[in-house]
Amino acid sequence: MKLYSICALLLAATIYIQTALADTPAGQADAATVKVTLLGTGGPEMSWNRQSMATLIQAGGEAYLFDSGRGVMQRLYETRTNPVNVRKIFYTHLHNDHIEGLPNLWMASWFLLGRTTPYDIWGPTGTQAMISGMQQMYQFDIQHRANAFNDPEALKIKVHEITGESVVYSNSTTRITAFPVEHHDGNPAYGYSFEHAGKRVVLSGDTTYHPNLVKYGDHADVIIQNIIAMSPEFEHKPEMQAVLAKLTTIRQAAKIFNATRPGLAVYSHIVKKGMSGSAGDKLLIARTRAESYLGPLLVGEDRTVIKLTDKIEVLPPADITELPDMDKKAKYAE
Ligand SMILES: [Zn+2]
Repeated sequence: MKLYSICALLLAATIYIQTALADTPAGQADAATVKVTLLGTGGPEMSWNRQSMATLIQAGGEAYLFDSGRGVMQRLYETRTNPVNVRKIFYTHLHNDHIEGLPNLWMASWFLLGRTTPYDIWGPTGTQAMISGMQQMYQFDIQHRANAFNDPEALKIKVHEITGESVVYSNSTTRITAFPVEHHDGNPAYGYSFEHAGKRVVLSGDTTYHPNLVKYGDHADVIIQNIIAMSPEFEHKPEMQAVLAKLTTIRQAAKIFNATRPGLAVYSHIVKKGMSGSAGDKLLIARTRAESYLGPLLVGEDRTVIKLTDKIEVLPPADITELPDMDKKAKYAE
């Protein structure tokens, strides 16, 4: 209990320092900096403060989007990230709550915001069929909106289907490795390891416990871990057993974190049944501590930024009440 209190205090102190640094102008970030933005931290459930899964990683002047769940376009806007700059997308698997924000992002960044560069999309077997189906669904709109200002060439998508554990993307400073995980009716499913300038962020994807999470998560700077937790009432429902079997329970997460000792463990794709609101979030922490993981832990909230420099900084969601509209082909943030 004493150790837990120390950890909680350390985390609170880190967040305090971050708030002071939050106004650093964009573009001044060091080339070695890795910026992780939690755009969507929820599962398929409807929640007022959690959209479905989407994580943006920015490093070396590039933006990499992992999954594009419901609300991704809105959250990009709310975090002052220009959707036009998001052109590389990596899917963990093809469940609807991880892909359904794509049409919004793909079409609106084109005709509304003036995106001129096509997409590259990585995902499991089946991704090409999913993309072809989306392009078919929007045929009318594509044909009618294409004009001198909206070049349909920008709507092209190059698909890279992943077929196993492999490096799926690399440039001079960044390497992204996909590794198989176990998500039952969501298989084939992958986690990702993102490496840049000696820093490593690991995304579990949707999965139950899998040895690859320990292999790739070992001493990672940040692990973004899916999690499922239920009230006792839900836990005993027969229909919940399959759901519990395809996601990571708190006991499994604690085992992974204790084996890997990450710089910061982050819960995202948070599936809570009968555990609504901040009280449910606090229960996630309490139950994780009860499973003997006492290291740094953050229950993800949409629009939280995690900045990796020579330290790990957590910037809480910024106030957005006076955020200007983003509805024109105008310069907008970074
Ligand atoms: Zn899933």
